[in-house]
Amino acid sequence: MKYCLNCDWHTSATDEPSARVRSRRAIEHHVETGHTIDSSDGVVPPRIPDVPDEIFVRDLVPSSSPSTGD
Ligand SMILES: [Zn+2]
Repeated sequence: MKYCLNCDWHTSATDEPSARVRSRRAIEHHVETGHTIDSSDGVVPPRIPDVPDEIFVRDLVPSSSPSTGD
C-alpha cells in the first residue's frame, strides 16, 4: 500500500487493484498537497521513528527563521 506521512491519505490493493493507478494517485496527492508519500509491500504501514518533527526541521533547515506558512 501507499500512504501519506502528513495526513491519513492512503491507497491499497483493496481500494485500487492497479499498482500503476495507485502510484499515479500517490504522485497526484504529493503534487496537490506537497505531502510525503511512503509505501510498503505489507498491509500495515511500518512504524514511523518516534522523533519529533522539529528535530528533522532543524537538521534540514540550518536557518532559524520561522516559517510564515502560505
Ligand atoms: Zn497527505
